[in-house]
Amino acid sequence: MTEDCIFCAIVAGRAPAHRVFEDERVLIFMDLFPAHAGHTLIIPKQHATDLFEVGAEDLAAVVAQSKPLAAALERVFDCDGIAVIQLNRAAAGQTVFHYHMHLIPRNAGEPFGVHGKRQAPAERLAEQAARLREVFEPAG
Ligand code: AMP
Ligand code: ZN
Repeated sequence: MTEDCIFCAIVAGRAPAHRVFEDERVLIFMDLFPAHAGHTLIIPKQHATDLFEVGAEDLAAVVAQSKPLAAALERVFDCDGIAVIQLNRAAAGQTVFHYHMHLIPRNAGEPFGVHGKRQAPAERLAEQAARLREVFEPAG
């Protein structure tokens, strides 16, 4: 764990997040500035800055849970598709330096971005996380 990492603080329960799922290796929670309704992040609990640093087992666990998360997002948000995005280093647009995978629901014809402009209201994220928890069937 690193002292000043916001995602480590979320893992430790020192910062709030709307959690969808967790096991011993990974945590899934709602993105605070969603690019689209249902924008979620999957992170390893163990701190790693990016793809260059993340351990193979943590990476495999993140990828494994992306599949049931995509299914849950499709059910809850009735989206046409889902973008899986993962940015490494500032030059690539990374803004939080704890490895994470974005899953972003998409609908045909809508403009696309990775980063939302506005913070979502807590009640909305709480409700979306609750709906996802109801249908999420973890891998493994
Ligand atoms: P990236 O640019 O790939 O590093 O993405 C970082 C993501 O983390 C952005 O989509 C942010 O909206 C999101 N984010 C930053 N702080 C928080 C937080 N405290 N809780 C949830 N999501 C966050
Ligand atoms: Zn961290």
